Amino acid sequence: MNIITDKSQCCGCSACVQRCPKQCISMYEDEEGFLYPVVDGQRCINCGLCKKMCPVINQRESREPLKVYASKNKNEKVRQSSSSGGVFSLLVENIIRQDGIAFGAYFNKNYEVIHDSVETLVDAVVFCGSKYVQSNINNSFSKAEQYLKQGRMVLFSGTQCQIAGLRLYLGKEYDNLLTVEVVCHGVPSPKIWREYMDCLHIDKRKVTNILFKDKSSGWRGYSFSVVGENSTLLFSEKAEKNKYMMAFYQNLTLRPSCYSCPAKGGKSHADITLADYWGIENINSAFNDNVGVSMVCCNSEKGMNILKKISDSMNLIETDFNASVPFNTSIVRSTLMPIGRNDFWLKYKKEGIGVLMALKSDRPSLIKRIFNRIVSR
Ligand SMILES: Cc1cc2nc3c(=O)[nH]c(=O)nc-3n(C[C@H](O)[C@H](O)[C@H](O)COP(=O)(O)OP(=O)(O)OC[C@H]3O[C@@H](n4cnc5c(N)ncnc54)[C@H](O)[C@@H]3O)c2cc1C
Ligand code: SF4
Ligand code: SF4
Ligand code: SF4
Repeated sequence: MNIITDKSQCCGCSACVQRCPKQCISMYEDEEGFLYPVVDGQRCINCGLCKKMCPVINQRESREPLKVYASKNKNEKVRQSSSSGGVFSLLVENIIRQDGIAFGAYFNKNYEVIHDSVETLVDAVVFCGSKYVQSNINNSFSKAEQYLKQGRMVLFSGTQCQIAGLRLYLGKEYDNLLTVEVVCHGVPSPKIWREYMDCLHIDKRKVTNILFKDKSSGWRGYSFSVVGENSTLLFSEKAEKNKYMMAFYQNLTLRPSCYSCPAKGGKSHADITLADYWGIENINSAFNDNVGVSMVCCNSEKGMNILKKISDSMNLIETDFNASVPFNTSIVRSTLMPIGRNDFWLKYKKEGIGVLMALKSDRPSLIKRIFNRIVSR
């Protein structure tokens, strides 16, 4: 049995692989560096379970959140090292203090992005900050299921499609599960990430962290930084000038499924949705600072309850969902595939990573921006 015939119809969540009773599905990396399931036809018994797990085939109805908040973790150090307002760290802390387990994305020692679990607050720091690379979910769904069956509290965080995949994989509601999705406009290729890292010629053994969103010069206008011992910067560049980030923001290196996302707009049925609160300055200018504000959508009673529990550790204001979405359409709408995507990958297949390193910024220059503003007035 073939699970997919069109790559844009697979978000790589691995739910099918983890549920197959014959364990005859494996994930293989394609030329663009994304993982796709391949079935061993000899061992497949045509039970159809894989298709029942698939969040692309089995899309659920859209839902609007029950309540939406703009929030900032009161711990400034944590907020500074998080990508938005640092709310995720508070959620994890709450679960671990209840003797629970938290799943999320972290860097392994080769700086590949992997999904796994932690049980202690010390270990949980690995989840802090967005890694702009598709994470390899591995067997996280089946591990989470085992913990849930043991009655442990489980927080599972991931992109919207990973949460949709987990919920289908589990196939039932668990009172001891809290699902937290991070809004994403798309995930870049792990292969491009590996090759980009090689281009930097940095000894990975000397790296202690990589910050895709280093906010030391602000939440807006942030940098991409590679950090070494004693917080020394081994490499740092404004995101708008960094080739890897340029390709990400020009949407050239995203997984094909991200241009027709199966899980946006509340379709994953996650308990909580986290996003950058872009546009907060238009909604509540006093709340805006340049350190990072999270948008927190509570989509279920469970989500509401946990937010109440952590609310003393945050500065929090209730906001209006519909007024906020126009400033961050990734919450509900897929990214448009750019005209240059095909060309980018054709050149990559011929010339390799040089095509990324030769990219030019598509941001208009300051002079051009001022000119455009005058003309539009
Ligand atoms: C690839 C990607 C694209 C994003 N694009 C947008 C966007 O367009 N608009 C927007 O508003 N927000 C986007 N975000 C979300 C945003 O950057 C923050 O992650 C989110 O607001 C939570 O921030 P925080 O400060 O609460 O916690 P943080 O500490 O910044 O976030 C940590 C959480 O992010 C998870 N995470 C990190 N990297 C990955 C990954 N590769 N795959 C799955 N989970 C991951 C961790 O497991 C943890 O749950 C994106 C995130 C990612 C990973
Ligand atoms: S049909 Fe059943 S046995 Fe075959 S790949 Fe799918 S889940 Fe596995
Ligand atoms: S989206 Fe997930 S479940 Fe569906 S085919 Fe791809 S890996 Fe399998
Ligand atoms: S845009 Fe959609 S399909 Fe792509 S990683 Fe994000 S949630 Fe998954």
